[in-house]
Amino acid sequence: MTGPTSLSTSDVLDYGEVLERFDPVLGLEVHVELSTHTKMFCGCPTEFGAEPNTQVCPTCLGLPGSLPVINRTAVESAIRIGLALGCEIAPWCRFARKNYFYPDMPKNFQTSQYDEPIAFNGKLDVELADGTVVTVEIERAHMEEDTGKSLHVGGATGRIHGADHSLLDYNRAGVPLVEIVTKPVVGTGARAPEVARAYVTVLRALLRALDVSDVRMDQGSLRCDANVSLMPRGTTVFGTRTETKNVNSLRSVERAVRYEMTRQAAVLVAGGEIVQETRHFQEATGTTSAGRRKETSEDYRYFPEPDLVPIEPAPEWVEKLRATLPEMPAERRKRVQADWGLSDLELRDLVNAGAIDLVAATVDAGAPPAEARAWWVNYLCQEANSRGAELPELPITPAQVARVAALVSEGALTNKLARGVVDGVLAGEGEPDEVVAARGLAVVSDDTALYAAIDEALAAQPDVADKIRGGKVQAAGAIVGAVMKATKGQADAKRVRELILERCG
Ligand code: ADP
Ligand code: MG
Ligand code: ZN
Repeated sequence: MTGPTSLSTSDVLDYGEVLERFDPVLGLEVHVELSTHTKMFCGCPTEFGAEPNTQVCPTCLGLPGSLPVINRTAVESAIRIGLALGCEIAPWCRFARKNYFYPDMPKNFQTSQYDEPIAFNGKLDVELADGTVVTVEIERAHMEEDTGKSLHVGGATGRIHGADHSLLDYNRAGVPLVEIVTKPVVGTGARAPEVARAYVTVLRALLRALDVSDVRMDQGSLRCDANVSLMPRGTTVFGTRTETKNVNSLRSVERAVRYEMTRQAAVLVAGGEIVQETRHFQEATGTTSAGRRKETSEDYRYFPEPDLVPIEPAPEWVEKLRATLPEMPAERRKRVQADWGLSDLELRDLVNAGAIDLVAATVDAGAPPAEARAWWVNYLCQEANSRGAELPELPITPAQVARVAALVSEGALTNKLARGVVDGVLAGEGEPDEVVAARGLAVVSDDTALYAAIDEALAAQPDVADKIRGGKVQAAGAIVGAVMKATKGQADAKRVRELILERCG
C-alpha cells in the first residue's frame, strides 16, 4: 500500500501548484467553553486555573448513583449562540451518550448531543481583509460537556510518547461546551486558509458580543479543529478529509489549513491516498503530524441519555432571547460607519486594526470621532506594532486619549506636543495633565512671551526683518522657525506667524 505514512513531513507541494491541480474544501469545528459559574450537569464551579481536582463532585466524576441536572444558563447561552448564527432552534431535543474510554473522561462517556442538536441551519458572513464577504453555512451548534485534562510528565515534548507517567485533573470535566460546526465550505480556492482564520475571528467577536464565553484561545476556552480535503480541480466529489486539532491561535488556523493543503496535494500527486485521521498542529514547525485514525459514529454507540429529560425550550423564551440579542459585530460596523461618516476604506482600516471598541470608547469619553480614529489607527497602532503587542494591551486608556484630544482642541497642545504627551502616558508617567506638567509640554500661548521671542529673532536677522517689512510675507518663515526653536516647538506656529506680520506692520 502506498500510504502517506511513508512520506516525510517535508513532502509538500508548492502552494501555486496545489491550486492549479486542486480545489480545497474546509470544515471548521469550534468548541467554545461557556462562562457559566457552574458546570453543565452539576453545581461545581468552573474557574480556570484552580488547584487540580478541587472542583469535582460525584456527578462530574461519574460515581455510581449520582444524577445529572441540566444547567439552564448553559442552555440559554446555546440558544443565544444559535440565534446569533441565524439558526433554527429545535423545539425538542435530547442529550446523548457518546461512549468511549479515555482517562481524562471519568464517566466513560461524554454527555453530548448527537442527531438532535439544539440549533441548526445557520450562517455567518465573514469579511476578509480586502472587504470580500464569504458566507459560511453553519450545520449545527450543539451542547456537550468538556473532558478533564491530562498532563504527561517526564518526556521532552509534553506528549504522551516518551512520558513516564501522566497526571489527571478533572476540574474541567463537565464544563459546558457549545460546538459550532460548519457545513463544508467550498469555492474559496487560494483563500481557504484566510477564510478559515477570518471565520474564527468573526465567530470569536460574535461570541464576545454575546458575552457567553471569555473566548481565550490561549487558555482553551475557544478551540478550533480544522477539517481539510482536496478535490481535483473542476470536480465536485469531496476528497477524504483530515481533522487538525491543537490549533490554538488565529494565526495557527491559517497556517494549519495551508500546510494541510500542501501536504495532501503532495500525497495525492504521488499517487497516495489521504487517510481519514486526526492530525496535530505543531506550532514550532508549522506542520501537522498524524494522530489517531478517525472513528465512525457507530464506534461511539450513541444512545439517548436516560438520566436527563429532553429539552423543550418554550417558544416565548426563545423569542425573548432573540429580542434581547446584543448588536452583532457586522451591524455595529454598519452603524459606526454611518455615525462617524467613514468611507469603506476607512472602516476597513479601523476593523483591520481591531480598533472599533477603543475608538468607540474614546468617542464616548468626548473625543471627536476623526481624532479618536486618528490616534488609535495611526499613532497607537504603530506603537503597538513596534512593541509586538495588540492595541488593547497598550498602557493607555480611551479616556486618556480623549483627554489629549481635548487639550489639542482647546489649543493647549499642538499635534506634535500631543504625541509627546501620549508617549509620556505610554511610558507610565501618569495622566495626560501630569505628563504635560512634568514634561513642560504646554503650548506657549502667552502673547507677551511670544512677542519677546519674535523681537529677538527679528533683531538677530535684520535683513529678513526688512524683507517682511517690505511686503515679502514668505520671508516670515525664517522668523517662525527661529521662534519655534527658541520655544522648543511649544508655540502654535500659526499664531506666531500672525504676530510676526502684525509686528512688521
Ligand atoms: P466529526 O465527528 O468527525 O468531528 P463533524 O460532523 O463534527 O465530524 O465535523 C466535520 C466537519 O468537517 C464539518 O465542518 C463538515 O462540514 C466538514 N467536512 C465534512 N466532509 C468534509 C470534507 N470532505 N472535506 C472537508 N471538510 C469536510
Ligand atoms: Mg465533531
Ligand atoms: Zn461536579
